[in-house]
Amino acid sequence: MADPAYDQLIARLREVTLLGTMSSALHWDQETYLPKAATPYRGDQLAWLSGRAHALFTDPEVGEWIGSAARAGFDPESTEGVNVRWLQRQYDKATKLPGTFVEECAKTQTMANAAWIEARRERDFARFAPHLEALTRQARQRADYLGYADSRYDALLDEHEPGATTSGVGALFDSLAPTLSELVAAGAEACANLPVLLPPGPYPEETQRVFNAEVAAAIGFDFDAGRIDTTTHPFCTTLGPRDHRITNRYDPADFTSSLYCILHETGHALYEIGLPEDQFGLPCGSAASLGIHESQSRLWENHVGRSLAFWEHWFDRAQALFPQLAGTTPEALWQHVNRIERTFIRVEADEVTYDLHIILRFRLERALVEGEIEVADIPATWNAMFAELMGLQVDHDSHGCLQDVHWSFGGFGYFATYSLGNINAAQLMAAATRQVAGLQAQLASGQYRALLGWLREHVHQPGMRHFPVDLMQRATGQPVSPDAHLSRLAEKISLFG
Ligand code: ZN
Repeated sequence: MADPAYDQLIARLREVTLLGTMSSALHWDQETYLPKAATPYRGDQLAWLSGRAHALFTDPEVGEWIGSAARAGFDPESTEGVNVRWLQRQYDKATKLPGTFVEECAKTQTMANAAWIEARRERDFARFAPHLEALTRQARQRADYLGYADSRYDALLDEHEPGATTSGVGALFDSLAPTLSELVAAGAEACANLPVLLPPGPYPEETQRVFNAEVAAAIGFDFDAGRIDTTTHPFCTTLGPRDHRITNRYDPADFTSSLYCILHETGHALYEIGLPEDQFGLPCGSAASLGIHESQSRLWENHVGRSLAFWEHWFDRAQALFPQLAGTTPEALWQHVNRIERTFIRVEADEVTYDLHIILRFRLERALVEGEIEVADIPATWNAMFAELMGLQVDHDSHGCLQDVHWSFGGFGYFATYSLGNINAAQLMAAATRQVAGLQAQLASGQYRALLGWLREHVHQPGMRHFPVDLMQRATGQPVSPDAHLSRLAEKISLFG
C-alpha cells in the first residue's frame, strides 16, 4: 500500500545514507591512503558530514513522517512495517543527541585515531591518554543523553547489539570465564610440545594476495563490486550497495595470517552483499547487529577456514604458489592454524583463548564507562586482569591496552559482540550442517554455494526484521546458547590430545 509520509521518510533516509556512505569512503581513505598531514582537514570533513546526516535525520519533519507512517496501518511484519518500527527507535535515539555533540565526537575521533596509531607504534600510552579521556567523557555523555535503566553501559551496548543488556552479557561472560580458563589451560598444554609446523618464509606479499583473492572469490566475494587494500588494522566497510572494501596486512613469515584476515573480512562482506539491495541503508537492508555480523566473519574464518577439509582442498594450490610448502601436509597446516597458545594480541588469538580477551575488555570498559575506574588506571587494570585471566604478564602497552582501534573511533560497547559472534557462529554452523544435506562433503570439495545460500536465506535476507536473539531462534530452531561453541572448543583440544 502507498503512504505519502512513508515515501517521504524513505526518500530522506536515502539522503542520510548517501551522506553516511560518503563518510565511510573518507574513513576508508583515512585508513588506507590519507597522508598524515591531511588528518585535521579530514576531521573537519567527517565532522561536517556526520553533522549534516544527523540534522537531516533528526529534522522534526522526519518525526512527523514516522508518526504518520506508523498510523498508516502497515502489517508489522511487512517491509514497511519493519522499517517504520526501527526508524522510530533510531529517531528517538538520534534526537536525544545534540548536533554539536555529534560533530564534536566525529572531530575527536579523527584526531584520536591518528594519536592512537602513533601511541601504539611508540608503545606510549601517555600519548593517547588525553584523547582517551575526551573519548571516555563523550561515551559517558552519550549514554546519559540516550538514557538507560540500570547501567550507563546498557545504552552503549544496545547501539551495537539491540536488546542486549550489561547484566545479561555480564552473567553470560561470568559463567563462561571459568570453563574457558580450563579449556585454555588444557589446550595450551596439549599444544606446548608441538614443533614449528609452517616451513620458514619468506612468503611474498604479492603471492599472498593472489592466494587470498582466489579463496575470497571461491567463497563468494565479487571483485567487480569490491577491493582488497592494505592497512595496519584489517576491516571491511561498505561504501555502496555494490562497493565492499576489505583491508588486510601481510606477514612475510606466515601467509596464513593474511589468509584468515581475508576469510574473516570476506565473511563480513558476504553478509553486506546478501542484504536486500533495494533496501540499502534502510533497516530491512541493514545488519541485525554486530553480534550477527561477527557470526558471519567467524563462521567463514573458523568453521570453514580452520577445518581439515579446507586444507585438504586448498593445499595443492597453496603449494603451487608457495614452493616451500613442498615438504609439508594439509594436516600440518591445519594444526598450525589451530595451535592453542596464550598470547597478548586479540586479533591473533586462537579460537580457544579468544573469548578471554573479550571478557577482559567487556569488564574493563564497563568499569570505565560507569566511572569505577578512570583513564589513568587503564594500563595497570588491564595488566592485572590479563594476568588473572590469561596467566601472562603484559610487557608493554602495545601488547596490552593500546592494541585495539575501537576506543579511538568511539566504539564503546562494541567488544562483547565478538564473543556473541563466536557463539552465534557455532550455533549457525551446527544448524546449517543439520539442515543442508551433504554440506560437509561439499565444503570438503571447495563448494561453498550451498552454505552461502543457507546463510543468505536465514541470516542475510531478513536484515533487521528480528532482534538478534530472535533471528538466531528462527534460523537454528533453538534459543541462543554457548553450548555449540564450547563443545567445538573442547573438540579442538581433543584433536591435539
Ligand atoms: Zn569481525
